[in-house]
Amino acid sequence: MRTPILAGNWKMHKTLDEAVTLVKGLKSELASFDHSKADVVVCPPFTALTTVRQAIGDAAIGLGAQNMYWEPQGAFTGEVSPLMLKELSQYVILGHSERRQYFGETDEGVNHKIHAAFEHGLIPIVCVGENLEQNKAGETVGFVGGQVRGALRNVSAERATRLIFAYEPIWAIGTGVPATGEGANEIIAKAIRGILAELYGDAVAAQVRIQYGGSVKPANVHEFMSQPEIDGALVGGACLKADSFADIVRGAIEAKGL
Ligand code: PEP
Repeated sequence: MRTPILAGNWKMHKTLDEAVTLVKGLKSELASFDHSKADVVVCPPFTALTTVRQAIGDAAIGLGAQNMYWEPQGAFTGEVSPLMLKELSQYVILGHSERRQYFGETDEGVNHKIHAAFEHGLIPIVCVGENLEQNKAGETVGFVGGQVRGALRNVSAERATRLIFAYEPIWAIGTGVPATGEGANEIIAKAIRGILAELYGDAVAAQVRIQYGGSVKPANVHEFMSQPEIDGALVGGACLKADSFADIVRGAIEAKGL
């Protein structure tokens, strides 16, 4: 059984004070039920990582960054490296569609970043997903499968078992219009777990955790988490309030019968 993983992508939200308030709220919400069978992760902006690390204290909440560059150090103004992140966080989101769309990230760059993350002991959460046009044209499986292959170039089987994929259809992100549970499950089975099986064999593919992301909220988390191929959620808007993110964690655990 793959351990469910619920990650909150704070995007470009929260001042330091607001970040502390959110983490404190989340800790107190999570204290009211047993979430030990799931991994709960928060991904604040770089500016809040240190503060959030302190606010988490010894609570069972993982910490992730939202991006990084692949070099360990150097003349790369404005960038943050895996060497810096590993002192603070365990996870890093890579290839989010907003990074691809607004900041020109490519499959090749995402692949460099995945290698760099593993070199420094960080677990990548690798985002893939099609836009509305591609979806309507029936290109989803081919496109997402291509992103998965690009991400995994020269990644060993051992490392592949430890990374996390997030299937995030772009048309579902921040729109309030999620995919259906069955629809997401089918894409994940064909374009992510299917490609993993092709590249590494069934045993490796069966170990990789795959999240769904795109307008996940407490009311629909059960629909996604009750699907066999979906092991978690990457949550944007609904993670910015402690009670709704905690409700998503609770719903995910219940849906998996844990
Ligand atoms: C995201 O940005 O990864 C995301 C899934 O956002 P939202 O939950 O707001 O759709």
